[in-house]
Amino acid sequence: MGLLKEFDQKDLAMVGQELYRFAEALYPICRSITGDGIRRTLAMIQNRVPLQTFEVPTGTPVFDWTVPKEWNVRDAYIKDKSGKRVVDFQNSNLHVLNYSTPVRATMPLSELKPHLFTITANPEWIPYQTSYYKEDWGFCLSHNQMLALEDGEYEVCIDSTLQDGHLTYGECFLPGRSADEVLISCHACHPSLANDNLSGLTVAAFLAHFLSGQDLHYSYRFLFIPGTIGAITWLARNQASAALIRHGLVLTCIGDAGPFHYKKSRRGNAEIDRAVSHVLTHYSESPEFLEFSPYGYDERQYCSPGFNLAVGCLMRSVWGSFPEYHTSADNLEFIHPARLAESLRICAAILDVLENNRRYRNLNPYCEPQLGKRGLYRYTGGGAIREELNALLWVLNLSDGEHSLLDIAERSHVRFSTIQHAAELLCQSGLLSTRGFDSKHRSFSPNWFVKLHLHDLL
Ligand SMILES: [Zn+2]
Repeated sequence: MGLLKEFDQKDLAMVGQELYRFAEALYPICRSITGDGIRRTLAMIQNRVPLQTFEVPTGTPVFDWTVPKEWNVRDAYIKDKSGKRVVDFQNSNLHVLNYSTPVRATMPLSELKPHLFTITANPEWIPYQTSYYKEDWGFCLSHNQMLALEDGEYEVCIDSTLQDGHLTYGECFLPGRSADEVLISCHACHPSLANDNLSGLTVAAFLAHFLSGQDLHYSYRFLFIPGTIGAITWLARNQASAALIRHGLVLTCIGDAGPFHYKKSRRGNAEIDRAVSHVLTHYSESPEFLEFSPYGYDERQYCSPGFNLAVGCLMRSVWGSFPEYHTSADNLEFIHPARLAESLRICAAILDVLENNRRYRNLNPYCEPQLGKRGLYRYTGGGAIREELNALLWVLNLSDGEHSLLDIAERSHVRFSTIQHAAELLCQSGLLSTRGFDSKHRSFSPNWFVKLHLHDLL
């Protein structure tokens, strides 16, 4: 059974609830690019899928970068002169500038202010700010909270550590029949942010769980990594084996109510780009397609010129384009069970195309075969039957060993699943074959057509 058909046996509403509950459980954890937050997150993913975790020591050179010091935070607050916490990490982990160095001091508001970050446009929201590569400390708070601070002395505490340790990432590898790989990558380094980070890693974890019970052509590698430095670290440690990656997707911001957006790989017309484009066009409302740009998520690293992997980025609302992005408003109310479930289904549909996209050979290439005598021409049944016949004719016509099922689906504007079903029917009737098809390279050996005809003549 195909992956999409298999997926569609599930109760989508229930799947949505499960996805949402998983995101909800991960939400309170204070994650960062290193430290115990990402470790706890990986441990929770490990409860669902076989995940191997890796610890890379601080100071390890990774291409032009160096694995940074490990950061952990236990508490942080600003107390007014009455001893009341006016900014409290225990209420929101966004309150501390991510990667803040430890601080314990008493200072006047004027001295504290350069360390405070707010958003004036949305004065109720707390911004999410980081300072990974410049040692600094600070607090993020709502603009209204800052306006309420009176002149005077404040007690400031950030109970954090920034010291030699490790960068942690997780890898789930699912072997298929082929050594060729599909990469699914998501960042797991943001604290309490739901769409940006939790939606991607939740859908990826469930996708890995779904695939783990399937008979797969490709091998699948799921990466749960800190953004940027995690992808760079993984690529530096796996430079040679990265060449096995045939197709890849970065998943992010896929739990909100926005329409799907797909940012193409650097190659622009790779099979993954075409598969996603086909699936989103046929299975989702008003998708949009974005050309590659060297800014965004970890596709930047996978698509750097030395690797140039066929990796695109699947999103709903595009990072940076929605006001909730990198603020406390990207919370559990901003993502929805049904949207998460639909995103997972879209991923299953994309992988279904990759898994089943192959070339066939029409064994009866001289004029149309008589479908009626093979039970393939049905006279009644309305639109569905017309579409089935249309798909049969397209598959027969273009199955010359040169065109894949995705080529045929694109050219005919018929859904891939319908085209694939037609190919199965034609194979069963002996009209179509993958004979001579090299399943490793998913193409026909060059002399095959000649061989077929010699065979016919003999
Ligand atoms: Zn982000």
